[in-house]
Amino acid sequence: MSEEYQVIVVGAGPAGYVAAIRCAQLGLKTACIDDWTGPDGKPALGGTCLNVGCIPSKALLESSEQYAHAREGMEERGIRVADVSLDLDGMMQHKQRVVQELTQGIAQLFKANGVTPVQGRARLVAERQVVVVQGDDEITLRAGNIILAPGSSPVQLSGIAQDGKYIVDSSGALAFDDVPARLGIIGAGVIGLELGSVWKRLGSEQVVLLEAQDSFLPIADAQVATQALRSFTGQGLDIRLGSRVTACTVKDSEVELDYQDADGEHTMQFDRLVVAVGRHPNTENLASDESGLLLDEWGFIHVDEQCSTNLPGVWAIGDAVRGPMLAHKGSEEGLMVAEQIAGHVAHIDYNTIPSVIYTQPEIAWAGQTEQALHATGVAFRSGLFPFAANGRARASGHTEGFIKVLADEKTDRLLGVHIIGPQASELVAEAVIAMQLGSSAEDIALTVFAHPTLSESFHEAALALHGRALHIAPARRRKQKNN
Ligand code: FAD
Ligand code: NAD
Repeated sequence: MSEEYQVIVVGAGPAGYVAAIRCAQLGLKTACIDDWTGPDGKPALGGTCLNVGCIPSKALLESSEQYAHAREGMEERGIRVADVSLDLDGMMQHKQRVVQELTQGIAQLFKANGVTPVQGRARLVAERQVVVVQGDDEITLRAGNIILAPGSSPVQLSGIAQDGKYIVDSSGALAFDDVPARLGIIGAGVIGLELGSVWKRLGSEQVVLLEAQDSFLPIADAQVATQALRSFTGQGLDIRLGSRVTACTVKDSEVELDYQDADGEHTMQFDRLVVAVGRHPNTENLASDESGLLLDEWGFIHVDEQCSTNLPGVWAIGDAVRGPMLAHKGSEEGLMVAEQIAGHVAHIDYNTIPSVIYTQPEIAWAGQTEQALHATGVAFRSGLFPFAANGRARASGHTEGFIKVLADEKTDRLLGVHIIGPQASELVAEAVIAMQLGSSAEDIALTVFAHPTLSESFHEAALALHGRALHIAPARRRKQKNN
C-alpha cells in the first residue's frame, strides 16, 4: 500500500506538530507520523515536550513551589496556613492530567486543521518515500516534501545501568512514587537543576549534583551563573563541580556511587540517582543508507540555515539538528520550513532565541553573554539593575537577582539581556522583542513601563547602561559602571 501526500512530517513533538499544522493551514495535504504512546498504550502526540519534558516538569516545578510556599512563605505576610502536607500521588495525577489534556489537544488540532496522524515508526528509504512500521505491518508514504523532526533522547553513561527504579533518566525523575531522602543527580545542567529543585522542595533531605565541568552553567552569562550558584547552594542543593563518576552499583535498595574530584576518590549512597548529562538526536535507523541522508559526527541531521538537508525536498528541524535543544526553537523551525514549502520567504534570527531555566529564582536570557562579547572583541556597555530596588519585587517578596543589559558601545544596539530573578521567563520576552526590532538601550530608556511592575527593572537596567538609573544609589551606580 502506498499513500501520496504533499508533506510528510516524521515526529509530532513541538517541532513536527507545529510544522504539520502550518503546512495544513497553507493548504498542503499533510501527514504526521509519530510513534509515542502514553501510559495507557494509546498514541500521545506532543513528543518529549508534552509527555516527559517541558510540560510535566513545569507542572511539578509549579506544584512544588506552591507547596514550599504554603509551608514556609506565608506567615511573614500575615497568612497562617495550618497542617500543610504533601499528597505526592495527587500531585502526580495533576501532572498527568495536564499532559493528557495537552496531548489530546494536539490530536484535536490535527483534526481541525486536516492533518492525517499516522501511528508507527518511520524510516526514510529514498528521497521522498517513508516506510512506516505498524506492529507486524508496513506502509509506504510518498510526498513532495518530507520534514524530519525525530527529536532527542537522554544520553546514557557507559557503566551506569539505568534500571528505571533506582537509577533513572529525566522521565523517571518526573515520576518517583515517593520523595527520595537522598537524591543524587549526575549533571548540574538545566534538567539537573530543575528536577533537583523539585525534589528538594518536596522534602528530599540531600540533593547532590555531581558536575564533571569545573565551571557552573557555562552557557549562561558568568555573572548570572555566579549568582545562581550562590542562590541554589543557599537553598540546599549540594553542587559539586569537577566531579567525575567512576563506578555505580545498586545494592540493597541503595545506589552506591564512587566519584573523583580534585580532592581524590569519594563514595556516596543515594536512594535514587538521576542521570541528566545531555540529550542526543534520535537519528539511529531514521534513514536507510540508500536514502543518502547526511548526518554529522554526533548524529545530528546536517542542515543549512533554512533547515534544508542534503536531499532535495527533505528538511529537518528541532532537537535533531544543530542549535539549542528547545521546544520553541523547534517550533519556529517548523513554521519556517512550512512557509518555504508553500513558496514563501522565511527566516529565523537564531541570536534572539530565548533560554530559560525554571528554577527559583528563574534564569532567562537572549543574545550574547558578556564572556562571548569579550571573546569576540566586541566593545560593549553594561547596565545592571537589582530586583531588590524594584517596588513590585519587594511587595511580592522575591527580591533576589537582577537584570543586565548589554549594548554595543558605538551603536547602542542591544546585544544581550540576562535575567536572574522573579518571572524571568516572562520578562525575557520584552528583551526578545526589543532585540528582534533592533532596539538600542536608549529606546528602552525612552519607553514608558507601568508602575509598579518587574518590567521597570528592564527600564532601569537600560538607564543604568548610560549611568542614569534612578532607583540605585550613586555609589552602586558607579561600581556597576566600572564593572
Ligand atoms: P521531540 O519532542 O523529542 O519529539 C520527537 C517525536 O518524534 C517523539 O514523539 C518521538 O517518539 C517521535 N519519533 C522519533 N523518531 C521517530 C520515527 N522514526 N518514527 C516516528 N516517530 C518518531 N524545552 C523548552 O523549550 N522548555 C522547557 O521548559 C523544556 N523542559 C524540558 C524538560 C525536560 C525534563 C526535558 C527532557 C526536555 C525539556 N525541554 C524543554 C526540551 C524539549 O522537550 C525539546 O527541545 C523538544 O521536545 C524538542 O522537540 P522536537 O519536536 O524536536 O522533538
Ligand atoms: P545540559 O547540557 O543542560 O546539562 C548536562 C550537564 O551534565 C552539563 O553541565 C555537563 O557538563 C554535565 N555532564 C556531562 N557528562 C557528565 C558526566 N559524565 N558526569 C557529570 N556531569 C556530566 O543537559 P540536560 O540537563 O540533560 O538537558 C538536556 C537538554 O534539554 C538541554 O540541552 C536543554 O536545552 C533541554 N532542556 C531545556 C529546559 C528548559 O528550557 N528549561 C529544561 C530541561 C531540558
